[in-house]
Amino acid sequence: MSVRTGVALLGATGSIGETTQRVVERHPERFHFVALTANGNREGLTAAVARWMPRYVGLVQDGGAALPAGWGRGTQCLVEAAQHPEVDTVVNAVVGAAGLEATLAALRAGKRVALANKESLVVGGALVARAVRQGRGEVIPVDSEHSALLQCAAGRVAPIPRGAAAGAGLLPLRGVSRMIITASGGPFRTWSREQIAGAQLTDALNHPTWAMGRKITIDSASLANKALEVIEAHVLFGIPYDRIEVVVHPQSIVHSMLEFEDGSVLAQMGVPSMELPVLYALGYPDRIADGGVPRFDPVASSPLTFEAVRHDAFPTLGLGIAAGRQGGAAPAVFNAANEVAVARVLDGSLPFARIPAAIDHALSAVGDRPGDDLPALLAADAAARSLVQEFR
Ligand code: NDP
Ligand code: MG
Repeated sequence: MSVRTGVALLGATGSIGETTQRVVERHPERFHFVALTANGNREGLTAAVARWMPRYVGLVQDGGAALPAGWGRGTQCLVEAAQHPEVDTVVNAVVGAAGLEATLAALRAGKRVALANKESLVVGGALVARAVRQGRGEVIPVDSEHSALLQCAAGRVAPIPRGAAAGAGLLPLRGVSRMIITASGGPFRTWSREQIAGAQLTDALNHPTWAMGRKITIDSASLANKALEVIEAHVLFGIPYDRIEVVVHPQSIVHSMLEFEDGSVLAQMGVPSMELPVLYALGYPDRIADGGVPRFDPVASSPLTFEAVRHDAFPTLGLGIAAGRQGGAAPAVFNAANEVAVARVLDGSLPFARIPAAIDHALSAVGDRPGDDLPALLAADAAARSLVQEFR
């Protein structure tokens, strides 16, 4: 008799959270929810709880109201859900640096982390690497580009060498010479710098190929998302930055490409949908038969095109990659500055086009801080947040 995988879903009420619920619903013989959490969306969480009857429920922000008996609250509930003894796999679908502690907690408890929360790896890459090396936990990416890279690498993931340095990667790949990460280019792909300077929030939220949460949608418009993903790829696979490239691919069909030492390039394709990356991370290394994943039609998807990134129009990408190369607290500062800048764009207090200047301001002021441990990273994160909060 097969034993079902117990899943904790952190961020159950979000875009990836809902996709994960749809995927698990199709595979009741393989997976079941043990724990569900949300931030403040009590109604959405209540509906998910009624549907799945999990053993553990956590609402981070209870708004001072009484909660049903047994519900956890506060940021601690993410850790409790992640470390629940009946949980095997933690789907971390929280948005922002708020997801880091739960990733670390899950790894320390020996869980698989199906990681959508890329910010965990950007902010705390070295800490996550240490937690993976010291325990029995593992990280499997949910981000579509990194899922694609892992799928292209199938069978070439090497065990992490004992005593490996942090830069060795969480899923070190053998025989790989280059990664080519695709970017849709977002809604401003064809806009001039002058047009982008006048972009409105509604323009930035109008993503051409993906339906996602609001923060990542803005990140996709500024290409901050691609910067986070380059850092994520470096931390995950241990590939040096000068062998990670970004190419614009407006159709979002090729999810990324992997070049091997003999020059062969493998790509993973499919219509833009997070169903397959979630399913693959849950089942890895198995492929689980699933009729619900939308099917690819090459003729309907034609033509597939590729373009160079216009770095002059999208300076946030270069800022983020430079922060990744710099290391220390710089990636955490980049991430925190971006999170606050995006929140301000969403509340209307910062124009979209000011995002790179706000990030640059924080990186110049506190980007060279050390990032050796969690307190240092959190201090740099907090400093960057207050700088961008005050940024005019
Ligand atoms: P959403 O905004 O749609 O959902 C975020 C979820 O996290 C919600 O359940 C929300 O709860 C919860 N949450 C938000 N803030 C906190 C917090 N401070 N503490 C605890 N929980 C919190 O985001 P997405 O689903 O779009 O994205 C989630 C992650 O996945 C991000 O890191 C994103 O970059 C990544 N990702 C998303 C993709 C997508 O297609 N959406 C694709 C690839 C990666 P509540 O509803 O209560 O606010
Ligand atoms: Mg992605």
